[in-house]
Amino acid sequence: MASFHPHYDAIVVGSGPGGASVARTLAATGARVLILERGSAAPVAGTLTQMTAMAAIPGKGAFFHRDASLLVRGVTAGGSSTINFATAASPPAAFARLGIDLADDERALRAELPLGPLPDDLIGPMARRIMTAAQDAGLGWRKLDKMIRPALCRTGCWRCMYGCPFGAKWTARDFLDEACRHGAQLVADARVERVIVEHGRAAGVEVTVGGTVHAVRAPVVVLAAGGIGSPRLLHRSGLAPAAVPFFSDPVVAVMGSVDDLDGGAEVPMAAGLALPGEGISFADLALPRPMYSAFAAQVGRFDRLHAHARTLSIMVKIADEAGGAVARAGSTRR
Ligand SMILES: Cc1cc2nc3c(=O)[nH]c(=O)nc-3n(C[C@H](O)[C@H](O)[C@H](O)COP(=O)(O)OP(=O)(O)OC[C@H]3O[C@@H](n4cnc5c(N)ncnc54)[C@H](O)[C@@H]3O)c2cc1C
Repeated sequence: MASFHPHYDAIVVGSGPGGASVARTLAATGARVLILERGSAAPVAGTLTQMTAMAAIPGKGAFFHRDASLLVRGVTAGGSSTINFATAASPPAAFARLGIDLADDERALRAELPLGPLPDDLIGPMARRIMTAAQDAGLGWRKLDKMIRPALCRTGCWRCMYGCPFGAKWTARDFLDEACRHGAQLVADARVERVIVEHGRAAGVEVTVGGTVHAVRAPVVVLAAGGIGSPRLLHRSGLAPAAVPFFSDPVVAVMGSVDDLDGGAEVPMAAGLALPGEGISFADLALPRPMYSAFAAQVGRFDRLHAHARTLSIMVKIADEAGGAVARAGSTRR
């Protein structure tokens, strides 16, 4: 059963990179911080079952758009960083154009996180084949920066997207641990329902834990529940217009077969090519076998279901226009 203090200095909703970094900064100043996370904080097992619970339950971790494309988020301690591809890139130029200077923050993170290209022995045969072909064609395809500790990463491992059970992949769970070492309290499996507003100011939140609704108080409430979770909470708290702006860059996997490879088990997005002027980026994208099969079935290619080990996959990411919305009912449109 969750037990709460009568008073906190700040409540942080969500424990992804956003929430965890704010929580650790606040906790380091001595503030009494409560972190409320909807997902579980169980150790990462790197299994399909756990990944499904974190990111594939419709309406919780997975949302279908009208065009049948899929939007995924990680509902777990560490948020989407627990299931993401661990690829790092500098902030897009759009921030600078808006007068937001992130240079110092980027420098600090590059110094703190395990960030850099993978050594050659961790680049899988499929990523290497694609990189060689692209470079032979004169393209500036190169190794990408990864948030991976090479010393803990295993050749032939493909589990990044299931959650890394070896501690090789950086996730916001590192920031969470640090926040807790500074005295922050993390309550997992805690779904925040709404922000309590009194006299025009946030005064706490209502949160459901184990079927019981608690009112927890703090003068500062940080909503870091992600691109879908935060607008939903603003709606439920009566603090947002009917539609909150939303965009997500769609990812398409383009696949082709080769006869002389028997692979499919490697770190995804090891190398790629960004064309910022065109708003497109490419990377190798070796998928775990069940995901590959789901993608093949989604587009009706049942003849390809068993071709995982010899199918090269390239991720094509295309910048979206800023025209979508998260609606009051919680649905997303883009
Ligand atoms: C499949 C995938 C691959 C990705 N690959 C990369 C990559 O390679 N490189 C990269 O930089 N980025 C990648 N991303 C994006 C990156 O992970 C996100 O940008 C980042 O995690 C966003 O951080 P956040 O803290 O804003 O939100 P999130 O990480 O989404 O965290 C929000 C947290 O809030 C919690 N929450 C939501 N609602 C509530 C509620 N009502 N009450 C309590 N808690 C709640 C959620 O459970 C979650 O833990 C990827 C994302 C996905 C889904």
